[in-house]
Amino acid sequence: MAAKPEITFRGHGVSPGVAWGRALKIDSQNRVMLRVEVADPESEVARFLKAVEMSKIQLQELKGRLEEKVGVEHGVILDAHFLILDDRVLREEIVERIRAQRANAEWAVTQATERLIAAYKSLEDEYFRERHSDIEHVAERILLNLSGDSAFGLGRLPEDVILVARDFNPSNFATMDLGRVRGLVLESGGRTSHTAILSRGLRLPAVMGLCDILASVSTGDLLLVNGDGGQVIVHPTHEHLENARRQKEALAAAAEAAGPMETAAATADGMALSLRANTELPHELTAAIACGAEGIGLYRSEFLFFAHPHGFPSMEEQRSVYSTLARAMSPHPVAIRTLDAGTERLGEGGERSTNPSMGLRGIRLSLALRDAFREQVEAIVRAGSDGNIEMLLPMVSTVEEIRQVKDLLAEVRSGLERAGIPAAPVPLGVMIEVPAAVLVLETLAREADFLCVGTNDLIQYVMAADRGNPAVDYLCQPLHPSVLACLGRIAEVSGRMGKPVRICGEISSNPFFAVLLVGMGFRQLSMTPLAIPAIRRALGKVSVAAARRVAERALTLATTGEVYDYLVPEVSCLVPIDLSPYEKEIRPSRHE
Ligand code: PEP
Ligand code: MG
Repeated sequence: MAAKPEITFRGHGVSPGVAWGRALKIDSQNRVMLRVEVADPESEVARFLKAVEMSKIQLQELKGRLEEKVGVEHGVILDAHFLILDDRVLREEIVERIRAQRANAEWAVTQATERLIAAYKSLEDEYFRERHSDIEHVAERILLNLSGDSAFGLGRLPEDVILVARDFNPSNFATMDLGRVRGLVLESGGRTSHTAILSRGLRLPAVMGLCDILASVSTGDLLLVNGDGGQVIVHPTHEHLENARRQKEALAAAAEAAGPMETAAATADGMALSLRANTELPHELTAAIACGAEGIGLYRSEFLFFAHPHGFPSMEEQRSVYSTLARAMSPHPVAIRTLDAGTERLGEGGERSTNPSMGLRGIRLSLALRDAFREQVEAIVRAGSDGNIEMLLPMVSTVEEIRQVKDLLAEVRSGLERAGIPAAPVPLGVMIEVPAAVLVLETLAREADFLCVGTNDLIQYVMAADRGNPAVDYLCQPLHPSVLACLGRIAEVSGRMGKPVRICGEISSNPFFAVLLVGMGFRQLSMTPLAIPAIRRALGKVSVAAARRVAERALTLATTGEVYDYLVPEVSCLVPIDLSPYEKEIRPSRHE
């Protein structure tokens, strides 16, 4: 058989490195559409038939509600779905596929319905052509019901897969079999989406913002992913694969030759800097220590919640994780950020917001779920006895939120004292990531022990541009003068008030930006652990005076492009090491 022609797609490389493997497509609900050989096809047939019956019951209920709301005549709309569920030929085809191929029900349903959908889509008559969406909805419902008792998910993956999806919920990283995943390819997503951040933390090459790649890839196709260049090749030639193999070996050799950095971080003229790690998954702790992090500047505790079978780990479970972090990093500090999730991420009961990033998220949700929040606060306070623990509040927009947390902290502490349980003081930090917080920074700074700037969110809220939407990537620009003005104000206010402040967003991992931040007056940066050695090396080449000169000039410029054009040659001159991989990260994506 002739080799399939190579197809190249270009998107945004959001996590560096090269990887190759077999594509594994994941559907919009992040379910694996993978063929798994089953030991007992008859029990798969039974699962499928049960899912069909459940679908019918649900449809009957939906039909009743529809008729109640909009009238009996509209209930017939759902009759088409009943007809598809009852279609004997379709049902027999699915059962036959399960038996003949000893396959899982999910795969058989997907294969059979995709074939039917393609047939409908090819019809001339527009009315009939449009009916394909009814089949899609029915397939979706059966798959949803299958997922309730499915044994096939991201926890059981084949070797060396490249995940391909429209979108990917980062909470999957907490439960999936990471040892088998080589790369990630998404149609959506941007550099500061949590999925991108985690991919970098996991050293998983990833390319995002690839429009329409799903239509050209089938599960099982060979893919080559280049996370540096933002390129994905479907059916790569032997020559391209060989080049990639050589590139990977050369990179590994270079990383080994660089060796660990043992000196404390400081500028060329001796100004001490504190470089800390952002972490979310347990194994990143090892990376943080190996890379010489002086503490965990941000522990994203929501991943503990996402990985938990019931959504809310108990106080004891949380305390044990926080204490492990505290002991491992001691004497350095560990900042536990309280749950930063929206209701949509915490399971089925959640409110469906059309705009979740502006909804009941972060500290807003914690204050609404007070009992669960109290458990987290108690776990943090108790872990404080095992090391240097800090508590960090996400998405703060008003001073009242901080005051409410302080009241709760006082309640928890006095409860512990009454019970004779030691409770060490835990500094309280506030994340500055909402424009309102920048505007009332002095007030917030008076209430908090320290400030932590979440630039990933700050950029999206200042620019009103969703950090996960490639269509507005050109606005989500860290070098935009409005973003720089916010950072300049934060540096000035915290300096004037003597309030410790650190930058926790992804910009800390970029040497060009790190120089700018030091020039503005920031001395603490927290970043993905693997970035620490490069940032330490780069900042060690620059004096505070030189960095300040760069920042002062950058703050006077009018557009992202002007800042970029100024910053790149200037910093490249100050830092005589190869910065080319980082330059791409800050290059403005022009709106064409
Ligand atoms: C940020 O917003 O910059 C941040 C550090 O938090 P997260 O990326 O988890 O939203
Ligand atoms: Mg944030």
